Amino acid sequence: MATLYLNDFVRDVPDFPKPGITFKDITPLLLSPVAFKSAIDQLVVPYQDEKIDFVVSAEARGFIFGPPVAMALNAGFIPLRKPGKLPGETIEESYKLEYGTDTLQIHKGHIKPKSRILMLDDVLATGGTMAAGAKLVEKVGGTIIGFSFLIELSFLAGKTKLDGKKVHSLLNYS
Ligand code: AMP
Repeated sequence: MATLYLNDFVRDVPDFPKPGITFKDITPLLLSPVAFKSAIDQLVVPYQDEKIDFVVSAEARGFIFGPPVAMALNAGFIPLRKPGKLPGETIEESYKLEYGTDTLQIHKGHIKPKSRILMLDDVLATGGTMAAGAKLVEKVGGTIIGFSFLIELSFLAGKTKLDGKKVHSLLNYS
């Protein structure tokens, strides 16, 4: 069988969504059942013996990868959402994006003290999204075991915002 290179399934889109940003488009990967499954399997591997209770991901593209990883780890899935989307009691955190600013909310009450959490997203860029998500998880009492990303844009040094915790990324662009 031919070797599968995941970076063959990520398309660079220059100047999207604004000039100067090279957008990593993961839709070609989603079109390939083999590449998509391979990505999910590889995101799971470093955490399969870590007794993860919940995978936590932010909308929107985190919702594509988070749930299948949660299922593979026999863990639950907890969404981080934009304001006004979660019906229960929430706490929130604002953060800077590579392009703009945003706020994320999480439901109170799902994560118990010492719940073991895997934070997961498609892209680690400046790290603002996952750093805000991690703050929310820790505020509600969770223990972050690590982070998993399909893509890390290491030239943006997002890892430095993740408090020295374990970071696993499948594709690294420097
Ligand atoms: P950041 O908070 O800067 O780490 O940005 C991470 C989030 O923004 C991820 O959820 C990505 O979906 C999205 N994102 C940021 N930069 C890019 C990029 N160059 N290509 C694709 N998605 C990106």
